Amino acid sequence: MSEQTGAENGRALPESIAALARLARNYWWGWAADGASVFRDLDPRLWDECEQNPRELLAEVSELRLARAATDPVYVARVRRLAEKFDRYVADGEATWARREAPQISWANPVAYFCAEFGVHSSLPLYSGGLGVLAGDHLKSASDLGVPLVAVGLLYNYGYFRQRLRADGWQVEDYSKLDPARAPLALVRDDETNDPVRLALDIRGRRVEAQAWLASVGRVRLYLLDTNVAENGETDRLITGHLYGGDRETRCVQEIVLGVGGVRLLRRLKIEPCVFHLNEGHSAFLTLELARELIARGQTFNDAAPRVRERCVFTTHTPVAAGHDEFLPSLVEHCFGRDYVESLGLSLADFVNLGRVQADDESELFGLTPLALKMCRSTNGVSRKHGEVSRELWLEAFPGRTVGEVPITSVTNGVHAPTWVAPLMRDLYERYVAEDWDARACDEEVWSRGAARLPDEELWRAHLLLKRRLIAFVRDRVFNAHLRGGDLGGAEQARTLFDADVLTVGFARRVAAYKRWSLILTDVERLMRLITDEGRPVQFVFAGKAHPHDETAKEILRRIAQWKFHPHVARRAVFIQDYDHEIARQLVQSVDVWLNVPRRPLEASGTSGEKVAMNGGLNLSVLDGWWLEGYDSTNGWAVGEEHPPTGEHEDEDAADADALYRLLEEEVVPAYYERDGRGVPVRWVRMMKRAIETLVPAFNSDRMVREYVKRIYLK
Ligand SMILES: *Cc1c(COP(=O)(O)O)cnc(C)c1O
Repeated sequence: MSEQTGAENGRALPESIAALARLARNYWWGWAADGASVFRDLDPRLWDECEQNPRELLAEVSELRLARAATDPVYVARVRRLAEKFDRYVADGEATWARREAPQISWANPVAYFCAEFGVHSSLPLYSGGLGVLAGDHLKSASDLGVPLVAVGLLYNYGYFRQRLRADGWQVEDYSKLDPARAPLALVRDDETNDPVRLALDIRGRRVEAQAWLASVGRVRLYLLDTNVAENGETDRLITGHLYGGDRETRCVQEIVLGVGGVRLLRRLKIEPCVFHLNEGHSAFLTLELARELIARGQTFNDAAPRVRERCVFTTHTPVAAGHDEFLPSLVEHCFGRDYVESLGLSLADFVNLGRVQADDESELFGLTPLALKMCRSTNGVSRKHGEVSRELWLEAFPGRTVGEVPITSVTNGVHAPTWVAPLMRDLYERYVAEDWDARACDEEVWSRGAARLPDEELWRAHLLLKRRLIAFVRDRVFNAHLRGGDLGGAEQARTLFDADVLTVGFARRVAAYKRWSLILTDVERLMRLITDEGRPVQFVFAGKAHPHDETAKEILRRIAQWKFHPHVARRAVFIQDYDHEIARQLVQSVDVWLNVPRRPLEASGTSGEKVAMNGGLNLSVLDGWWLEGYDSTNGWAVGEEHPPTGEHEDEDAADADALYRLLEEEVVPAYYERDGRGVPVRWVRMMKRAIETLVPAFNSDRMVREYVKRIYLK
């Protein structure tokens, strides 16, 4: 692969800052201290316009700005320091956690991590929500810990949709073409011939070619398969068109490219993984390809299957049967083609049974989860509760066993601290917790001693500064949304939205029925009293996308959007359009309270509340997923009981809504507005410190990846 230095899209950078070109090609800058700010300071407005894509910034920034930066000794020194740190980081594989604790995993035999979406940074829109962002955090922690890992995904040429709300609140989806030449991606080329690497697959009876792109995430390589090549017809070029955008057939075909194509790519690159991690069932077809390879060398399917199992591990992310990927058997057969099924040495009936819990049950579809359960030596859910729920859900796949004996364990999700902690908080952690606080993210003792040292007033002032930034961000986003919609009056009003002194509650997540977006609107009068209270008001910031095919979710969204137009709420409730990695970062770093009210037990883990806790925000959440493990009565609030009233959903919703209002009225609002002589809410700050102390070490992704390595990857 050819690496350019000092040049960006044909443009030469001044020598004193030439290292920027190299830095721009590895997402490491996205979590390095002073990484984003070095790029941003070249041209802050352009930085936002190109959505924080450094390669695009370097191609577009004016000669004058480049020349100024290149002759500013302070700026030049910052670039040099960052580049030196980066060079040390990528070169220094020796002193890492993995080298000490898991020397069995090597770069010659790395972990292969497969996922249908990756949320590494908002400038690479290959994710829809929690699953993708979790995968991005997994890569970053693997990199930091020095875990030899390569990742495989798809390059969706149109990414995931951009959300726009019409004046009536209805969601409209826009897609824009991603330009790989402008993203920090390199076309994967053959070492000897330097030609782009090509793979051939046989799908729907046609030869489909794929190329691959490389995204560098610290020490980790992320390979992205792409069928948008000239040799393919229009339909096949669009296989890697949209994330979750097409019909069932497109989805099935995408998953063949990911699973089968992914294995072939690794072979082509001579990468021989020690373990294949199927992060969610979307990539489960890879197990068939591994079996096919063995069968081509003379084994039968029954000989091959246990050998495949030895090398594959599976993480399930969905606690409801309907959420698992499945297809009509005839569709799978059509997409794979008879030849592929024959190459597995299976009859059609046996092939279809691989995707079923009950063999020959004609009513069952071909499910990727049953396939993964059969073909992987380890299965885990993503929180303790989710492990429990999954054992019940998949009991039938393990005949003769009781629920307790179902071999599904759990590894609770965590989030990547250096990505999600605000620079201002990093600074506090450096000074009071540990200079290398990020390398000690898992050390409980460091955090319990460190949190105690954080001075109340300093912590509170830092939080207030971040809140002011949030308010400016909210105004800016809403202003621009109104301008784009031609609503000048709305744009003008956006300038006075929100108030830095008011208790601010954030609620941002995918709009799906189980997340219960409408719960907060159960008793509008009661909510209005909270929002419009003279002395102790509350303000709300909402964000979230509905799946493009989910009309119910879009209706919920419309209701929320309409409600915020109510004149009494106009200034104190906002919906920020187009929820993404960047908006998530702004919100989790600065809200006072993070609200989460899923229907139990449907939140497999949830991760956004973990991001909030790292920044000292307080969770106000239903006891489900990770919060069931994190909540200890001193570090946030639990909405409702652990076990909701049984029976109808309405009873559960009514009880939880009442508990939510009661907590806000009697606990959250009073604690927030109770101040000492310095204006510090002492009781509140004590809870912030408890959240930092108890939740950072337990719910960061270094802890998660270490667990995967020790308990799952190494047998
Ligand atoms: C963290 C994150 C999520 C996951 O949030 P949960 O609702 O807690 O699962 C989704 N989307 C984005 C953009 C995120 O950053």
